[in-house]
Amino acid sequence: MTATTKAPAETDYEIVIGLEVHTQLLTQSKMFCPCDAHYADDAPNSHVCMVCMGMPGVLPVINQRAVEYTIMTGLALHCEIPELSKFDRKNYFYPDLPKGYQISQYDLPFCRNGWLEIPVDGSVKRIGITRAHLEEDTGRLLHRTDPATGEAYSLVDLNRAGIPLLEIVSEPDMRSPEEARLYMQKLRSILVYLGVSSGRMEEGSLRCDANISVRPRGQKEFGTKTEIKNMNSFRSVQRALEYEAERQIQVLREGGRIVQETRGWVEAKGVTVSQRTKEEANDYRYFPEPDLPPVVLSRAWIDEIRAKMPELPDAKRARFMSEYGLSEYDATVLTDERAVADYFEATVRDVTKGDLASRAKSAANWITGDLARLLNAAGSDITQCKITPAGLAGLINALDSGTISGKQAKDILERAFASGDQPTEIIQREGIAQVSDAGTLEAVANQVIAANPKAVEDYRKGKAAAVQFLIGQVMRQTKGSAKPDVIQPILVRLLDALKE
Ligand SMILES: [Zn+2]
Repeated sequence: MTATTKAPAETDYEIVIGLEVHTQLLTQSKMFCPCDAHYADDAPNSHVCMVCMGMPGVLPVINQRAVEYTIMTGLALHCEIPELSKFDRKNYFYPDLPKGYQISQYDLPFCRNGWLEIPVDGSVKRIGITRAHLEEDTGRLLHRTDPATGEAYSLVDLNRAGIPLLEIVSEPDMRSPEEARLYMQKLRSILVYLGVSSGRMEEGSLRCDANISVRPRGQKEFGTKTEIKNMNSFRSVQRALEYEAERQIQVLREGGRIVQETRGWVEAKGVTVSQRTKEEANDYRYFPEPDLPPVVLSRAWIDEIRAKMPELPDAKRARFMSEYGLSEYDATVLTDERAVADYFEATVRDVTKGDLASRAKSAANWITGDLARLLNAAGSDITQCKITPAGLAGLINALDSGTISGKQAKDILERAFASGDQPTEIIQREGIAQVSDAGTLEAVANQVIAANPKAVEDYRKGKAAAVQFLIGQVMRQTKGSAKPDVIQPILVRLLDALKE
């Protein structure tokens, strides 16, 4: 997580980045009307009403849960929560905005002056949060072509219109595309921990726009910035900004100047392209929303929200290190996603052998190792994992007690992962147990010796490697259920008896 890749040109120019992140809030209903906010793949315009369709004369009502989620996020980002806030109208015309304006917040947002921390070069860097404010999402346009006439037309779907949207604006504190990605990942982690966002960038419920400029090292003033849009993954945030920084530096090196404009990231081509210059930018003519009263937040309510907040990633990581004795690396990997952290703690509770630190270490190894590999390969996450924490603990317990070997454990994990049977069920059903009984092993060892005269001859001539080969053969015969350190003395005894 701390590996740093510097853009090649980042030698005589410094990169300056600020991010604007939008996330849909996981409320039941929309921001200003009772429509169901879970529209997913439902038929277009099936989650709409007079309010979110922008009919004249209707009145919006503030969704209290959305305000609560906003304040909770502000508190998690160490923001001030002013007592007085209000909503404003942001006026612009576009077909996905039925009212002709968006209800947003302008000069009195719910949250301001906060920060979050990211790991940079082995230490911690604080990135300022300018503000976090609440607004409503717009509808969606579907662009089509009439197959008969070849004429292009657009359809409007207002299911998304009016979904609560939280915008979080950072200070221009990031100095590399990698820092921007780390900030984005940290912010997502916090939003998901709080349960206010699904955090799914690929589905558009979490979106990111970036302001980026470059300046000669040592210069105080910021360079002219461009705004980059349409980055749909953490990877594309970093790639788009790397490309754009290079582009700007190239322009300046060639004696040109940067045009202040909005540029779109084209993922397939790996480039940013100009979309709109400053001269074409909208004047939003903000004014206070006359249909909504100013919002006065009682300190008691804010304290109530604070008391309900879950443990956040940084605090959890620190606790995992002190309570379980985990390394910083393990603690970071395990606390990045709240669901993984919960899975880990539930597993540790059910592992029976050893002290807390050793139980934690083996749970951590399985979760960050074999289980993570299986989840990755299946393209799924821990919330979809069929092996329960108790199931994984059962596997660790069987291994710790010597019932099964390490190789058997890995094999059972894979089968349980695929089938949905718990590891202990598989062990019991199939009567799987490690072959440690000396009589059985001796019989197998004798068969192996009889079948491999060449290796036996080699052993007589003093080739030590021959024993390793024979151990391998015994393990094959017992399907990996016998431990090499149990097999070896038996084999050596039998081979030495042959010599005489
Ligand atoms: Zn509605």
